[in-house]
Amino acid sequence: MATADHVDLEGFIAGVKRRNPGQDEFVQAVQEVAEDIFDFIQDKEQYHEYQILRRIAEPDRVVSFRVCWEDDKGAIRVQRGWRVQNNNSIGPYKGGIRFHPSVTESVLKFLAFEQTFKNSLTGLPMGGGKGGANFNPKGKSDHEVMRFCQSFMTELYRHVGADIDVPAGDIGVGAREIGYMFGQYKRITNQFTGVLTGKGLEFGGSLIRTEATGYGAVYFLKSMLENVGQGIEGKTAVISGSGNVATHAAEKIVQLGGKVLTLSDSEGFIHDPAGIDQAKIDWVKVHKTKRRGRISDYVKEFPGATFHGGGARPWSVPCDLALPCATQNELDGEEAKTLVKNGCIAVSEGANMPTTLAGVHVFKDAKILYAPGKAANAGGVSVSGLEMSQNSARISWKEEQLQGLLVDIMAGIHSSCVEYGGSAGTKHIDYVRGANIAGFKKVADAMLAYGVV
Ligand code: NDP
Repeated sequence: MATADHVDLEGFIAGVKRRNPGQDEFVQAVQEVAEDIFDFIQDKEQYHEYQILRRIAEPDRVVSFRVCWEDDKGAIRVQRGWRVQNNNSIGPYKGGIRFHPSVTESVLKFLAFEQTFKNSLTGLPMGGGKGGANFNPKGKSDHEVMRFCQSFMTELYRHVGADIDVPAGDIGVGAREIGYMFGQYKRITNQFTGVLTGKGLEFGGSLIRTEATGYGAVYFLKSMLENVGQGIEGKTAVISGSGNVATHAAEKIVQLGGKVLTLSDSEGFIHDPAGIDQAKIDWVKVHKTKRRGRISDYVKEFPGATFHGGGARPWSVPCDLALPCATQNELDGEEAKTLVKNGCIAVSEGANMPTTLAGVHVFKDAKILYAPGKAANAGGVSVSGLEMSQNSARISWKEEQLQGLLVDIMAGIHSSCVEYGGSAGTKHIDYVRGANIAGFKKVADAMLAYGVV
């Protein structure tokens, strides 16, 4: 059979760029994965013959739709919504919904592509998808958010289902938004099924889902450190973001004896040299989710801290550990160099693709411990997968059981990365390579089994 996929890496990336004009985030995500996969499949003819990488880098479908809603002043507003269903070779599409003004088709395609590998790494039967809208929940009333969520679901419901596609939360979509969307799904379909995860505990949600992504990113960091005979205790950590992932990552660092120095939002970062302890983290959680406040207010509450505005990012603060937990491309090549120069020994990505390709190369070249988001932040989708299992079986597991499963899943992902990211003659683990190859292999082998579909 012809081996048309035998192009080189440059040729492959040129093709991805040509087919996806203006979709920079998507091209970046594919490039990062392709750099490792090309090497891995070099001598594996079947993967070439069946164009596996090319097919994974072409979403199964992208649904785009209009979302109309009425604001509190009676004005009609129009937003754009999407659901990207990237690949369902190993299970129903699964991935969050993001509401943020920066959402574009490119951002959601990159997230759905990454999600395919991440979900594979968890070992659970979940394919990759992602959705969202260019809606800004900031400054909107509860009723405005409710009307938007209902309008969004009024179209989305046709494309999702417990065995088809199971969305969850992401930036701008938390328990409140999931509640409104699930309520509308139930109303339209007259079905109570596990069509969304991250639900409230009263209506089919799972314990520890809220904490899982941030906790998981720290469990992964702990495994990387233990692998080189170190631990979190006594180390300083710089964290970006102040949402769900950032606050729970901070909480777990503190529980394990580390000291958290920073948190941030899109306006800037706060630096608290005394350390952001549990009481301060609790204040941030309430301030961000209940009061919908800004991180700059932290310094009024805790005067020992300083706020650095103008969208400043925290990577210039010297630290042992760095956890980017806000958004994509929030840590560039220069900032990566600064972290390495200041003695940072490990980076664990709570956010999706927070490091630019130049930054990734800095970390790889410096051979520091560097966990990409698709491995480090997989704890959230893992517990979402466990929420799906509980919904199917109509049971609720206890907290200890779920905590144990999360720890096991993160340890399993770490082992997979070590298996595929190690190389002969050195103890260094390339976690990016390990995650890309381990995530790819399972999906690729399932695709081979299905033939050309
Ligand atoms: P939240 O909405 O709870 O918090 C997002 C945080 O990031 C806020 O502090 C926000 O600040 C900041 N932020 C958002 N956009 C930007 C921007 N353009 N520049 C600077 N800061 C920004 O989201 P999550 O904590 O849930 O998600 C954070 C990251 O983790 C995302 O990359 C997400 O995809 C990823 N992730 C989340 C999972 C989950 O379970 N929630 C699972 C796996 C990954 P502001 O308030 O100013 O917008």
